Amino acid sequence: MSTTWHVLGAGSLGTLWATRLARAGAPVRLILRDAARLQAYEAAGGLTLVEHGVAQCYAVAAETPDSSEPIHRLLVACKAYDAQAAVARLAPRLAPGAELILLQNGLGSQDAVATQVPQARCIYASSTEGAFRDGDWRVVFAGHGFTWLGDASHPVAPIWLEDLDAAGIPHEWSTEILTRLWRKLALNCAINPLTVLHDCRNGGLQNHHCEVATLCGELTELLERCGQPAAAENLQQEVERVIHATAANFSSMHQDVASLRRTEISYLLGYACKVAERHQLNLPHLTQLQQRLITHLHSLGLPSD
Ligand code: NAP
Repeated sequence: MSTTWHVLGAGSLGTLWATRLARAGAPVRLILRDAARLQAYEAAGGLTLVEHGVAQCYAVAAETPDSSEPIHRLLVACKAYDAQAAVARLAPRLAPGAELILLQNGLGSQDAVATQVPQARCIYASSTEGAFRDGDWRVVFAGHGFTWLGDASHPVAPIWLEDLDAAGIPHEWSTEILTRLWRKLALNCAINPLTVLHDCRNGGLQNHHCEVATLCGELTELLERCGQPAAAENLQQEVERVIHATAANFSSMHQDVASLRRTEISYLLGYACKVAERHQLNLPHLTQLQQRLITHLHSLGLPSD
């Protein structure tokens, strides 16, 4: 029998993965926070995925972290700031040789999780798929994209990638997953905080060309210093391309701040600044950007970690 996909977190990405895997016939079990969330989920009757304007409900089985079934494969689909605590609760249930797929944006949370569960194989993912919640247990598939998966310490691809093929989840095994995560982090650092501070769509940064270019210079220096020269290649050019291509969009950080939701700053700009400090690299504009963003978040009563 095929291995069960335990999916931790029935938010945007968790729902996107759980529903596609379930409809392809893979065994899936959601892990919800607690008994109250489980009760609310069961009352709703399943997860709803809205694709091309059509809503479809999937009655995916669910449980709480306290369930006793061993976990062989765990898709961690919560926010970066929740990952460590969420996985710690499940650690006693991990079977020997268990595999974790970490969908968190940015860097820092994956290593923290991996250190916590040395008995498991941790696979890092970087995704350009886009989804958002438009109600409890209801997710809109907003942007078709791609997911890269990789394991920096073990280049061999896992067998279960065929489940992703069957589920129609576009993916590729990457032996350079850290480079991909660093590149995405650098793009995020150059764009997202400025969209918050200037309160604009991505395209609004075309009016702040010098500020963006200065940040790209410092981010390039950082990537080169921390052994990621491939992630640094033509960074500014790509940042400008993304700003142009997504001109009408609000960045994810802008959306979080506008909705007064906690951001993942510690795993994005905060992580970049921490690594710069570790390398004794002086990056004044990046540091100042972090300070400005923290001050702004505090002024709105939002956490800065
Ligand atoms: P989300 O919609 O906020 O979903 C996170 C889910 O995790 C929520 O359902 C939350 O439960 C659950 N959760 C948190 N702690 C938990 C715990 N201890 N036990 C069980 N469930 C727990 O977040 P998301 O947008 O899917 O983002 C997940 C990660 O993917 C982030 O790092 C994000 O940056 C990244 N990402 C997202 C997208 C996207 O389009 N959404 C794209 C690329 C990358 P409650 O419902 O109870 O709060």
